[in-house]
Amino acid sequence: MTNTVRSVLIVGGGGAGPEQGVFLKRAGIASTVFEAYPRSRGVGGGLGLGPNGVRVLDALGVADEVRAHAGTILSYRFRNDRGSVLAAFDLEAERRFGQPMLGLSRAAVADNWTTCPSASVTRAK
Ligand SMILES: Cc1cc2nc3c(=O)[nH]c(=O)nc-3n(C[C@H](O)[C@H](O)[C@H](O)COP(=O)(O)OP(=O)(O)OC[C@H]3O[C@@H](n4cnc5c(N)ncnc54)[C@H](O)[C@@H]3O)c2cc1C
Repeated sequence: MTNTVRSVLIVGGGGAGPEQGVFLKRAGIASTVFEAYPRSRGVGGGLGLGPNGVRVLDALGVADEVRAHAGTILSYRFRNDRGSVLAAFDLEAERRFGQPMLGLSRAAVADNWTTCPSASVTRAK
């Protein structure tokens, strides 16, 4: 007997759940993402999205929308409380990894999924 997965229940509409739903849909498997909390635009703050993450969003076809709300992080500077630079390095992410390092608000990432119908998230009221 062959086991055929027809639908999947994904618990958690955070960083990974909605993306998983989109990839499953591409594989011909329906899914529903359940999230315990209602959306809160205030949660999280900033998010650094590494080149691998951008590549995943690119594969999902939503990288451009996310990029529209993001800035490119070119370098990091670590400073002490007087502002003196303790450490500095340039990422050169695009040259080294083929995708940039992006900086954006978590809310912008979450909002992006609302424009991606195959990743709809059922939230607790
Ligand atoms: C302070 C902080 C800063 C971070 N900054 C970065 C960063 O800049 N860049 C980066 O790449 N990563 C960052 N991370 C890591 C990143 O947030 C996690 O790797 C990522 O969120 C993991 O995704 P996930 O979907 O596995 O889990 P989560 O994003 O935690 O999603 C899990 C979801 O499941 C829901 N849930 C839990 N239990 C249930 C239940 N029983 N029923 C329904 N829903 C449920 C939760 O409410 C949550 O929304 C940071 C993490 C922290 C804590």
